[in-house]
Amino acid sequence: MSIDAIVRPEIATLKAYVTAEQVSATVRLNANEAPHSPWQPDTRDGLNRYPEIRPRRLQARLAQLFDADPARLLATRGSSEAIDALIRAFCRPYTDNIVVTPPTFSMYRVYADVQAAETINVPLRAGNDFALDTESMLEACTPETKLVFVCSPNNPTGALVSRDDILALVQGRAAQSLVVVDEAYLEFSGARSVADEIGRYDNLVVLRTLSKAWGLAGVRCGALLASPEVVAMLERVLAPYSFSTPATDCLLEALDSTRVPDARQLVKQIIAERGRLEQQLARLDCVRHIWHSDSNFLLVQFDDLAAVHRRVSKARILIREFAGDGALDHCARITVGDPDENDMLLAALANGAEEIG
Ligand code: PMP
Repeated sequence: MSIDAIVRPEIATLKAYVTAEQVSATVRLNANEAPHSPWQPDTRDGLNRYPEIRPRRLQARLAQLFDADPARLLATRGSSEAIDALIRAFCRPYTDNIVVTPPTFSMYRVYADVQAAETINVPLRAGNDFALDTESMLEACTPETKLVFVCSPNNPTGALVSRDDILALVQGRAAQSLVVVDEAYLEFSGARSVADEIGRYDNLVVLRTLSKAWGLAGVRCGALLASPEVVAMLERVLAPYSFSTPATDCLLEALDSTRVPDARQLVKQIIAERGRLEQQLARLDCVRHIWHSDSNFLLVQFDDLAAVHRRVSKARILIREFAGDGALDHCARITVGDPDENDMLLAALANGAEEIG
């Protein structure tokens, strides 16, 4: 694939911002930095200095974690930044479009709106456990479709998308669109990432995040995995110095190999709690349906979402409600919490039984 055929021409020819050279053991008078920091008076090379243009050590660590070649990985501030960068780099305003599959993560549409790119909706098959309709997706694509977003496991419906379905899209859109597989919740599925296909398919892009299974949503870090050509184009649109020094230090400490088992333990606990929560919810009279989940949340349909809202609000518990939302009518997405939180939710829902009457 020639990336020039799909990237915005302004980005293909963009003259990148030239940042100040950073060489250790030099007197640095080239970046208009302060000579020392009043906040860290005992160091001259701390917060007074700009961080690296791109956080190379962090990228190397993320490449190890996600089993990727560092040349095929871009560290981003959450996967949100990757979604934004993809749309800005590939979609010409008022001309190009993205394909999404509602109900799904709404930020794809939001960033497309910001870029004045059209969003083409190809709904999941509500009557078939919200399965992806790959044929309709391929039919809906136009010559201006630059990005096809697949969320796997999907937020808010919860299920993993099969590798075959993803590859059908990747092959069907070869040399025309990038297929972006958002694997924000992959760790809770036990499945292998489809990123191992990137060497074979240069129009495949995979997004990972540290915000879910790694318990680091507050630090803002994700990774985009793609061909080196796609990574190079996206590097052009990301801000230089986007990772702050404290964020990078915190991430490198948190991702130290001695701590990785804690993250794996957390995922195990959430998967176990997901099973328990599903079982207990299924016993409640107010619950009509629970979809299979490969994620850290459950999509639940209730008989009466307004009544559920009153009960959980009284217990000061927040769940994501989808009132009057077409295929998701009377549904709520419930994040799996720790055992105490899950018990509180179950108690709140059970307590209201007499109120429904
Ligand atoms: N993708 C999906 C499917 C999500 O649900 C979310 C957050 N809820 C994100 C991406 C963005 O996450 P972050 O920017 O924290 O990586």
